[in-house]
Amino acid sequence: MYINGEWVEALSGKRFDVTNPATGEVIGDVPDGGADDARAAIAAADEAFGAWASTTAFERADLLYQAWQLMKERTGELAALMTKEQGKPLRASTNEVGYGADFLRFFAEEATRVTGEWLPSKTANQRFLVLHQPVGVVAAITPWNYPMSMLTRKMGPALAAGCPIVFKAAEATPMCAQAIIQLFHDAGFPPGVVNLVTALDPKPIGEVFTTDPRVRKLTFTGSTAVGKMLAGQAASNMKRVSVELGGHAPFIVFPDADPVRAAKGAAALKYLNSGQACISPNRLYVHTSGADAFIETMIERVSRVKAGPGTEDGVTVGPLVNEAAVDKVERQVIDALDKGAQAPVGGTRLIEAPFDKGHFFAPTLLTGVADGMTIYREETFGPVAPVIVYDDVDEVIAMANDTEYGLAAYVYSDNMSTALKAFEQLRFGIIGINDVNPTAAQAPFGGMKDSGLGREGSREGIREYLETKLGGFAL
Ligand code: ADP
Repeated sequence: MYINGEWVEALSGKRFDVTNPATGEVIGDVPDGGADDARAAIAAADEAFGAWASTTAFERADLLYQAWQLMKERTGELAALMTKEQGKPLRASTNEVGYGADFLRFFAEEATRVTGEWLPSKTANQRFLVLHQPVGVVAAITPWNYPMSMLTRKMGPALAAGCPIVFKAAEATPMCAQAIIQLFHDAGFPPGVVNLVTALDPKPIGEVFTTDPRVRKLTFTGSTAVGKMLAGQAASNMKRVSVELGGHAPFIVFPDADPVRAAKGAAALKYLNSGQACISPNRLYVHTSGADAFIETMIERVSRVKAGPGTEDGVTVGPLVNEAAVDKVERQVIDALDKGAQAPVGGTRLIEAPFDKGHFFAPTLLTGVADGMTIYREETFGPVAPVIVYDDVDEVIAMANDTEYGLAAYVYSDNMSTALKAFEQLRFGIIGINDVNPTAAQAPFGGMKDSGLGREGSREGIREYLETKLGGFAL
């Protein structure tokens, strides 16, 4: 663990193993921290806060540029580690390192753009001045699905704003977190500004993060159930909260779209990260007029998606994170098949060699999906594309919005009015219009409803780490 500028063991001296999800092999072990370790990290961050907040934005930007540079230089080794620990194909790991690095550069730039305001007064001898200052110590909890970029997406804005940060990394991917923290050590960030606690049991640490009075903000990325619980706890202690949670993205193919192009987009998008992404499409609504062409293209494309260890050439889908994840996907697929869906491609676990030691589910296409099936409402987090054929264009937006989630949605249409109306009417934070990659460091990422609170990335991202202070000056 990294506390106050040093790599340390857990106070208990305990460690836990980290395994490769493709092979079941133990690839290393890390300290198993607890509540006292979390408190030590918070104490270090609290101690560092004053001096860090007093550095100039330009000094903070220089350090972030330095970390960005190192991340780019180490792309190869970071990607190799990610594939070994998280399982995604090497090319996807390389892309994630690039995406993660983008947040460091963007927020290095953004650090120097935090400005205030001079407001008019009704009274001649009064002045109003608005100042933005760092909120203070940030506690951050990150997931395993994007084990590097989810750290930099929080570090970039927190550090740029002048906040120290304490991480609790996901138990499945602590070594990726260590490698990211090492960049910040090597870049020369002062002791206490960046800290990392690793732990097998996240609960005691979550408890400290949400109750310790020195923590002023909680930022969490993970499941809706845990996020709601932690956000509630943190809010009752008056901490600022941003949470980026689950999703259930609709993907709508309108009658005025090219169904083949849409299917190619859906097949490219759905199997990224083995479907373990909160913006992965979970309901593919295809209009009857294009359904045959769409499904035919999907069958052809999904049949070509190759599962296997991410280190192997040509593999486009890696393992799932663990056996529980495979069980959940299998349960959803069996439920859908029982209720009348078909699986023209895949539909089962992969259990024969070379898949027997890892956690694999076959890239799957489900057709004939309908409301009433578990997969229609529950987030899948697996390589399964559920297709729903619809008839009534006036109803499809309402169907798409009929979910407790509100993170991402996708629309295929070649008609500007159709696309613009859908963009306006969909209740989701991120809408891809004929676009399967609507994310970037400079673009706001976040959801509505049960998908979360706040935005990450973009100009908005840094505001989550700033307090507003008003000065009234009577002359
Ligand atoms: P997933 O189901 O995708 O693993 P989780 O929400 O369980 O999503 O995990 C996301 C992050 O939240 C991980 O770092 C995990 O350790 C952490 N986490 C899970 N449960 C708790 C908890 N009770 N308190 C604090 N952190 C938690």
